[in-house]
Amino acid sequence: MSASTPKRDYYDVLGVARNADDTEIKKAFRRLARELHPDVNKDDPDAEAKFKEAAEAYEVLSDSDRRATYDRYGHDGLRSGGYAPNFEGFGSMSDLFEAFFGGGGLSGFGFGGGPAGPAQGADIQVAAEVTLAEAASGTPVELTYDAVVTCQHCRGNGAEPGTPIETCPKCQGSGQLRTVARTLIGQVMSTTTCDQCGGDGRVAANPCHVCRGRGRRAESQTVSVDVPAGIADGQRIRVTGRGHAGERGGPPGDLYVLIRVREDARFVRDGDDLITAIDISGPQAALGVTVEVPTIDGPEALEIPAGTQPGETLVVRGRGMPSLRGRREGDLRVVVNVITPRNLNAEQRRMLERFSESLTHENLHSDEGVFSKLRRAFHR
Ligand SMILES: [Zn+2]
Ligand SMILES: [Zn+2]
Repeated sequence: MSASTPKRDYYDVLGVARNADDTEIKKAFRRLARELHPDVNKDDPDAEAKFKEAAEAYEVLSDSDRRATYDRYGHDGLRSGGYAPNFEGFGSMSDLFEAFFGGGGLSGFGFGGGPAGPAQGADIQVAAEVTLAEAASGTPVELTYDAVVTCQHCRGNGAEPGTPIETCPKCQGSGQLRTVARTLIGQVMSTTTCDQCGGDGRVAANPCHVCRGRGRRAESQTVSVDVPAGIADGQRIRVTGRGHAGERGGPPGDLYVLIRVREDARFVRDGDDLITAIDISGPQAALGVTVEVPTIDGPEALEIPAGTQPGETLVVRGRGMPSLRGRREGDLRVVVNVITPRNLNAEQRRMLERFSESLTHENLHSDEGVFSKLRRAFHR
């Protein structure tokens, strides 16, 4: 789908051996996270991309099923299995860190930055895989993902219920800290967001014990989404308000569900049309035959008329995919593959020789010359 630079090997990204155990993987990821944290790494414009890469590697290698798939089939295996990084849609680095280390897992990571005032929560993208039949009929899917949510215990204000919120002692309520630095050109004043109150100017005297005063925490979410009939691979469904919670009372972000439609061995999809192929023998093509063809709703009888030519396409109207926009359904196109009999025994050979000698121009003329067919195939 996305045409980005080739993905690096997950073990290389984390700098661990291929047989590293869970503890080593966790350790390596935490070390990287510490190095790439935005507070430490303000000057590295690639820090965010690097952290996302590390987070993705960690997400895969810390999950035994995903790790086994990756070991065997690499990145392609994960993708065809419908895996997309959970945090792909995380907007800000602090949301990312919150999602991975929320609840104080990495002590000493204070979240500084961010403009004062309510900020909208970041969007989240998750992937969901459906079968082609499910894409044709529409289906509900249940999704589980991690999101930063407003802490229920303190309702987001970061204080133990019933305890006061006081003016921040560090910034005296201004939300900003002034620092004076001596440089070659003299003293330089700079202002940064207060790290104690996060720019609020107010702090909980008694921080909420559930979220440790942050007001938000990462939590597993479950949402049921109706995948509409006719959905195509790569389309996204937006679920308003199910992304990360906003900061300081800001509105939540949205959840985007990236739909992956699993390949179906029987059909190729072309817009709303489905294409399938069936094998019949040369004699059946000459005589005409009724065969069973697969449709998205199950096998169905299809009459192949006498004189059908190899590669000819029969169209079954309205048996393709439903259209997302309207009610009209696509068609099922059945490509007829004519098998020329092989390994004839003596009797079959005699019969076919007699039959061959009996053929006249009347049996063999084609509606369209071979050359005009070729021309059509090569200059389109
Ligand atoms: Zn709380
Ligand atoms: Zn403060």
